[in-house]
Amino acid sequence: MKASILKLKKFFRLEAERGYDNRAVMGGLGTMLHAWQAEARAEGIGDALLEAIQTRLHNYAQYSPQERQAALIDTWRRVEAELGLPPSSERIPARRVAKPEKPAKPPAAPKTLTAPRRRPAPARARIKGEPAALDAPTTVLYGVGAVNAQRLEKLGLYTLGDMLYHFPRRYDDYSQLSDMVSLLYGQHVTVMGTVRSIANRPVKGGRRSIVEALVDDGTAALRVSWFNQPWMQRNLSVGSQVVLSGQVDQYLGRLTMSNPEWELADKEQLHTNRIVPVYPLAADLGQRWLRGVMKRVVSYWAPRVPDPLPPELVAAAEVRPLPEALLQVHFPDAPEQLRAARTRIAFDELLLMQLAVLLQKAAWQGQSARRFSVPAGWLPAQTEGLPFALTGDQQAALDDLFKDMASGRPMNRLLQGDVGSGKTVVAALCMALVAAQGAQAAIMAPTSILAEQHYLTLQRLLVRPGGLAADEVRLIIGATPESEKQQIRAGLQDGSIKLVVGTQALIQDPILFAQLELIVIDEQHRFGVGQRAKLRAKGSNPHLLVMTATPIPRSLSLTLYGDLDLSVIAELPPGRREVNTQLMLPGERRRAYDLIRREVQAGRQAFIVYPLIDGEEGEDGETDERKAAVEEQKRLQAEVFPELKLGLLHGRMSAEEKDKAMSALRDGRVQVLVSTTVVEVGVDVPNATVMLIEGADRFGLAQLHQLRGRVGRGGEQSYCILVPNASHGAENERLKALLESNDGFMLAQKDLEQRGPGQFLGKQQSGFLDFRLASLSDARLIDKARRHAEELLAADPHLSQPAHLALAVAVNHYLSDGKGDLS
Ligand code: ADP
Ligand code: MG
Repeated sequence: MKASILKLKKFFRLEAERGYDNRAVMGGLGTMLHAWQAEARAEGIGDALLEAIQTRLHNYAQYSPQERQAALIDTWRRVEAELGLPPSSERIPARRVAKPEKPAKPPAAPKTLTAPRRRPAPARARIKGEPAALDAPTTVLYGVGAVNAQRLEKLGLYTLGDMLYHFPRRYDDYSQLSDMVSLLYGQHVTVMGTVRSIANRPVKGGRRSIVEALVDDGTAALRVSWFNQPWMQRNLSVGSQVVLSGQVDQYLGRLTMSNPEWELADKEQLHTNRIVPVYPLAADLGQRWLRGVMKRVVSYWAPRVPDPLPPELVAAAEVRPLPEALLQVHFPDAPEQLRAARTRIAFDELLLMQLAVLLQKAAWQGQSARRFSVPAGWLPAQTEGLPFALTGDQQAALDDLFKDMASGRPMNRLLQGDVGSGKTVVAALCMALVAAQGAQAAIMAPTSILAEQHYLTLQRLLVRPGGLAADEVRLIIGATPESEKQQIRAGLQDGSIKLVVGTQALIQDPILFAQLELIVIDEQHRFGVGQRAKLRAKGSNPHLLVMTATPIPRSLSLTLYGDLDLSVIAELPPGRREVNTQLMLPGERRRAYDLIRREVQAGRQAFIVYPLIDGEEGEDGETDERKAAVEEQKRLQAEVFPELKLGLLHGRMSAEEKDKAMSALRDGRVQVLVSTTVVEVGVDVPNATVMLIEGADRFGLAQLHQLRGRVGRGGEQSYCILVPNASHGAENERLKALLESNDGFMLAQKDLEQRGPGQFLGKQQSGFLDFRLASLSDARLIDKARRHAEELLAADPHLSQPAHLALAVAVNHYLSDGKGDLS
């Protein structure tokens, strides 16, 4: 038996012996499960099983001893069945617990299962009779049998609790009744009237049918038809009062309604005459049916759901109580109620996340790390050799970093500074400090071009007599020859190499460090969330510095980087001139070319950047970008700039080719570099003064701002020309923000509002933020959640007070979904 399974069994038995008091492990079962899952996963236990265990046990702390016993027995049986263990003769004993009064509840169904699975035991509890629990399977509902349960499972709905949190996709507001006489074509309306006639007539040779009814409300009559729903004739009889909701249509000059939602007027109105929830559906599930089932679940359960937030918090945060919010989010009485309900549920999501993030932060702060204090006179000796003086903000950031590194606790800091603000030198000085005291530091960059650039910077700044030796600073990227990689690995392992610069190769490679004490990650947003953790694991509690030039709106930095302390470099080095930014329509491209020609004649250089080609945005976006860049480079060279030398840079080139292209630009052998967006990140060519961006309307403002930051790095006046794909279009309006502002934060905030958080996240980060209702652009609510999370933890750092038990369980659950694992 696998070690993790043995452990689980041991724990279960211990828990049974203790009478199911949830004390068999410190912190209770929820805490144990979190750590245990990682272990089990590492041993190859399948996700389906882990998930089933999690589902069954995540409310363990809230169960009665009988329920706990049932849960453990179920879970263990499940484990046995799933892993093909011989059913143990010894059962988990039931000492000190009276015989369960109720039969054990069937376990929540697993999400995926190949083996034939046991049906849940026939449900006894009905929502109207003795209540089941929130974790009871959906089959306890009247009208939900095996078949419908399976359909619900396709939506991820296994239990009543799942259903309660299955929120409408949208709402149709049918709450205002209209007079038929005042209907207008195209309106969405609700009307009520009497059925005057109803008939079913076949069409298309009898294979299809239309039920047509005439409904009259005293102001006018409306013709209503249902296609291929012959049963409608039976649902409505002449003389009955019916409420109809839907869009007003037109047929042969008369107003009609086709396939409206309908309901008999004497019933409680669920589908019409109110704000109607529209649920996400899976195959074979009808909206009306689901809505009906949801109504029963919600009406019964929402008022009975325990609110995990203590009442003082609900009051202080000015949010609705959870039961009310759950009722209103499904079946709102009015738009304001719906808004308040959604806010409450979003608040919960954000609060949980913030608690998780802050708990994680506290856990790190509880660890110890090696101290690096700055000896007197050391820093001036370092900066003496620099060709410039540090700006005030650089100095302030350094102070923050040095303080962290001397604290004896691992640094966890985000250094944010607009493009060109000079973050590299700040990082380099920290790395130098670590190296000077005999330890190792690593810096990871998202592209080999950038890694090479950092490598050269470190060599230039730090390698000198009395400083580091050249072979103590090394570069490792994908293209590094294997023999050299081996050499570097050996040097890092025996500690003779002090500083290493690399790409993801640093993580992927089986590199071992003698004593890695500082990790720097540049352009963090280009990496996934998990990558911080992987690099961190190469040392033992190393200091961590994360850098980004993407100005991150506060709401995002509180979430994505909420576990990090923040330092900001806001001021640019002196002598920079604001980049002259212009919008030129496609017809004005000549002017842009003339500008490039003029600048090149004056000895400067230019970038021309191409985005994806229209409609080809695929998995492999870079391919299309490359195609555009390759073709345009040929065309521009032949037709537009025959007298100039044009270089080419794209992501599919080998690192060597890229390096050649970049150094050709740097060394002035090429005057214009035609490129894909790979130049976006970090490349530093101070002599370049023009950045021409084609298809500018396809980029986010933040990304355009980054590209613009590639120029204006020397003392010369620089230009950024934005050329959108089309002359017209609202998209071009958006671009004007760049002409008006050079404030990266403001642009990023605008971007977040207009285009959502996607572009701020690495590919792997998006899954982490799959909120149901919370929005990452809602800075106000995120701030509020953060504030309350901080207050809660200040009063109760481990959420161990009884009033916070439910919250602690929820946070544990959140963490065990692998979500809180930010860094
Ligand atoms: P980023 O913050 O975008 O990574 P870099 O570290 O690449 O910026 O710095 C941009 C440029 O500014 C580099 O050429 C660097 O040498 C220069 N630089 C950095 N700090 C200063 C300073 N205090 N004064 C003048 N130039 C500086
Ligand atoms: Mg940089």
